[in-house]
Amino acid sequence: MKRIGALEAGGTKMVCAIGDENGKIYDRVSIPTETPDVTIPAILRYFSDKNIESLGIACFGPVDLNTASATYGYITSTPKTAWKNFDIVGALQNGFGNLDGLHVPVGFDTDVNGSLLGEVTYGQAKGLTDAVYFTIGTGVGAGIMSGGKLVHGVRHPEAGHTLLQISPDDPMPEGVCPYHSGCLEGLASGPSIEKRWHKKAQYLTDRDEVWDLEAYYIAQGCLQMHLILSPQIIILGGGVMHVEKLFPMIRQQMKKLLNGYGLANPETENFDKLIVPASLNDDQGIMGAVKLGLDALQE
Ligand code: ADP
Ligand code: ZN
Repeated sequence: MKRIGALEAGGTKMVCAIGDENGKIYDRVSIPTETPDVTIPAILRYFSDKNIESLGIACFGPVDLNTASATYGYITSTPKTAWKNFDIVGALQNGFGNLDGLHVPVGFDTDVNGSLLGEVTYGQAKGLTDAVYFTIGTGVGAGIMSGGKLVHGVRHPEAGHTLLQISPDDPMPEGVCPYHSGCLEGLASGPSIEKRWHKKAQYLTDRDEVWDLEAYYIAQGCLQMHLILSPQIIILGGGVMHVEKLFPMIRQQMKKLLNGYGLANPETENFDKLIVPASLNDDQGIMGAVKLGLDALQE
């Protein structure tokens, strides 16, 4: 069995774990995300006696994924100022070098691509080549796999900031994104629900108007993915998607918006199979990070 280090680097916490090639997680800790000078040594301390062969990092962003770039492995323009333009891959790789003089190969991708990779490698999307993973939480983002490859593009996709058709029933049609009026993240993230309805999403579960609007916006995000990428599966994760009744509502809204167009293929016609919850008990991110580490070892 291999011993792979996995880091799910988030804006509020860093989940560090040890896993193997079967995706089994042996040990994990959660370290609060403070500033790099506090948090990076804490991460290094955790991994220092774990004998890891490689490390996979699924990281909050935006990040630089271009291996040819001078700033590859950096967190770039995040609003978390202490982490802005921070070389997280370099800091950890150098840290391991200083600890034990060993070169630990590091795999690096976005948090959402990590979650998607977890689902495609170990979860319900195993073996699929065209898949999307949306997280609807503090922010909204999507990991994308097309033709068996995680999509990076020049930077990486930022599907949370696509613009939507606003509902005339929306009491807060501008949303909460500081950059855009009417983007998916601004309209459908957890904080947008809280600002619009004056309570946290988890305390609004019995309010129909909240979820009608939420389903309408998430359905538009899914519809864009369906029309642009034609994926086999669209997985919806993140805190807000713990509201299970959203799933049938989203499928129904999507069908309504599609209005019968392009439904010749029975594979994509089955919206129950197309739009699904995450399958790995919220471990998709850390398991994806294990796979990133495994892939780095192979390279
Ligand atoms: P993060 O995106 O920071 O990693 P989460 O995915 O848990 O964290 O998303 C946090 C958001 O999800 C918050 O806005 C919170 O209100 C919302 N949320 C968390 N749990 C639930 C729940 N059970 N039902 C509805 N909303 C939830
Ligand atoms: Zn935006």
